[in-house]
Amino acid sequence: MFPALLKGNTLLKIQLLYEQDIGSDIVNAIRIALREAFNAQTIYEETLVIPDTFYDNRRGQYLAELVVEYASTFLKEDVYAILLSNKDAYVMGLNFVFGLAIPWLRTAAVFLARLATGATRATLLNRVEKEVLHELGHLLGLEHCKTPKCVMNFSNSLREVDIKTNRFCEKCYTKLQQKSNIRISERYVLKE
Ligand SMILES: [Zn+2]
Ligand SMILES: [Zn+2]
Repeated sequence: MFPALLKGNTLLKIQLLYEQDIGSDIVNAIRIALREAFNAQTIYEETLVIPDTFYDNRRGQYLAELVVEYASTFLKEDVYAILLSNKDAYVMGLNFVFGLAIPWLRTAAVFLARLATGATRATLLNRVEKEVLHELGHLLGLEHCKTPKCVMNFSNSLREVDIKTNRFCEKCYTKLQQKSNIRISERYVLKE
């Protein structure tokens, strides 16, 4: 296991992993969003292939925990990892998930298959950005938030993804500051 991030380490480093078929426009947009929202630096960017053994034939979906665990094996020391996947994924008890974060593995995945449903490229980019910031929020210790427009609001449907913004409410902003020295940029704080 890696040691916990030192308090006072304000430079957030994120390892960006993605499947080969994720467009470079999406990877670029996420790299920029992470920098703008958290002043985060993306490092060790690389593609990975998700093994078929994580595919559930009966459901036609991938088991999200296994995908995140697998992505965590690519993790370099002292960073967080985010995987962008074009798969459709689920966890037990839910029909599907848009993303999954496993904080103790410091790794999260965002699954684009459903986010792409009925979406223009611009809408897809927008949705992926929200889900990446949401999962990163979990990795940094944030939980779900009841404010519908806050990016930490739980989305059970595309409608809910589209209703929320890519910004963190003031409560989540403050919580994150108490938990870590990671600061959210002003532009990504939701003003009521
Ligand atoms: Zn969540
Ligand atoms: Zn919030």
